[in-house]
Amino acid sequence: MHGATTHPFSDAALEREAHTLVSTEEASALLERFSTLVRESGSADERTSAEYIVSRLRALGIPVTVHEPELFLSIPKRSQLTIATGNATRQIESRPPAFSLSTGDGSVTGEVVHVPSTFAGGTASLFDLPAAAEASGGRDPVAGRIVLTEGFSMPGPVRAFEQRGAIAQIYVHPGPRIHEGICTTIWGAPDADSIGRKPRTPIVCISRPDGERLAADAAAGIRATIRTELDEGWMRCLLPVVEIRGRHDPEEFLLVHGHYDSWYEGIGDNATGNAALLELARVLHGLAPRLNRSVRIAWWPGHSTGRYAGSTWYADHFADEIDERCVAHLNIDSPGCAGATAYEEVMWMAEAGDLCARAITDAAGVPAHGMRPLRAGDYSFNQIGPTAFYMLLSNIPQAERARRGYYAVGGCGGNVAWHTPQDLLDVADLGVLRTDVQVYLTTILRTVNAPVYPFDYGAAIGEIAAAVRRYDAAAAGAVDLQPVVGDLEALRGEYDAWRASAEARVLAGNDAERRRVNATLRRLARLLVPLNYARGERFDHDPAIKFGPVPRLEAAARLAAAPADVKPFIVTGLVRERNKVRAILRSARRELLS
Ligand SMILES: [Zn+2]
Repeated sequence: MHGATTHPFSDAALEREAHTLVSTEEASALLERFSTLVRESGSADERTSAEYIVSRLRALGIPVTVHEPELFLSIPKRSQLTIATGNATRQIESRPPAFSLSTGDGSVTGEVVHVPSTFAGGTASLFDLPAAAEASGGRDPVAGRIVLTEGFSMPGPVRAFEQRGAIAQIYVHPGPRIHEGICTTIWGAPDADSIGRKPRTPIVCISRPDGERLAADAAAGIRATIRTELDEGWMRCLLPVVEIRGRHDPEEFLLVHGHYDSWYEGIGDNATGNAALLELARVLHGLAPRLNRSVRIAWWPGHSTGRYAGSTWYADHFADEIDERCVAHLNIDSPGCAGATAYEEVMWMAEAGDLCARAITDAAGVPAHGMRPLRAGDYSFNQIGPTAFYMLLSNIPQAERARRGYYAVGGCGGNVAWHTPQDLLDVADLGVLRTDVQVYLTTILRTVNAPVYPFDYGAAIGEIAAAVRRYDAAAAGAVDLQPVVGDLEALRGEYDAWRASAEARVLAGNDAERRRVNATLRRLARLLVPLNYARGERFDHDPAIKFGPVPRLEAAARLAAAPADVKPFIVTGLVRERNKVRAILRSARRELLS
């Protein structure tokens, strides 16, 4: 493996001690309390749950700052779906996702067109744009009709069908339950530019049995009437943040975070995560004298009904210190679920792969397999640029989920109670939660105490280079991306040489040398993370749709299939993006000269 100069750092005695300090007492009490609260953002119960977290922190003697942002949220209330076949009408149980158009007392009526699609095969493909959502040319049968299609009402297909002229959309969920969700592509609060992307049509979700019957009826011609009711607007929410100050480099902080709002009681998603954050605060507060850098712990509101509105608000309002001083961020969503003993689909950025895989194996005693973080969860910081790891963590083993007939969901350790009223206490397991907290602690201690940040940016450069080579081959001479490949090869060599000498300098040097070296790594991340994960400007928020690596050049992959009259426009854009990418890589190489 490359990056042989990156020495794994661990302090076995400190880690052992930290593991023995982990208790499930606070976690157990929090889960009990949260099982009585429906923590919908903007609600009284959500405020009560934040106050509970704050009161426990204060009781433990941990200082906490409570922000009170106004977040733009959309709370689904109810929907009505009426089907008319000939003279007969019937009602089908349905739920609107957050940010569907609210018809209020009005309604939308139209002919139903079934656009068959497939359910996501796994967590990794939940955000994929189904082929069914893409227009095929000619007269579009979707235009002016109500689309009936399979899958969750994800932002990609909802936007694609709306752009094709669908007047409403019905999503058939993969099982007998209807899961709550959110369908806007707008990440966090809209600005004057992005507000135009808010869905303009009503969207509802139905169960699979109802969906199958409806699809059969649709073949013979049916009409539907859809009515939706949602509360949309700016709502005040609490946002607690704890900072545990490190001893030697307290200005540098690792951001550890997760959402505390939920659908229904949301025990597996994400009361278990809130309990983990509270326990981490308790243990790390006790260990503060032995932390080199600081750990900042945040509980977000507005995740479920504001498309990560809380973490986005924090990214917007604390952008300067995140840019200057944030070491990395670690997201905690849906740990500690019953039966979740496997770490088969854990998200981490390439540069953190070695750190995370070792930490999981050392703390949980099982192998870990990573995947590229989806543009989801509370990854609201990619356009500032700290390295990031984890989102979901432990899962019910894939083989066991298949045995139970589970379909892919986005939390609760893979339990299909996810985003339903069944996400109750039996979804959680305190033993699994203890192991997960130990995994987090191991990862956190190694991150804040390693003399040089334990991130191998050579691996990130390698991932970027592999993507650019694929895009170059796909562009097949229409755009020459070889100069970018050359830049990346040079940067890779320069990084490996710089890292080896920087580690030696830090081992032999003083505090100032260590801070200088790590500051260079932070600035390198500020260039490479947006390059690998973002399409838009820094400090902005790209849409919540699926991106491949190096999104600026991703259009190259679509070039071959594009109509001849469209190709020159794509090529023009790719030339401009190539220029931006090369400028970013020149800046990265200059950082290593400092
Ligand atoms: Zn969640």
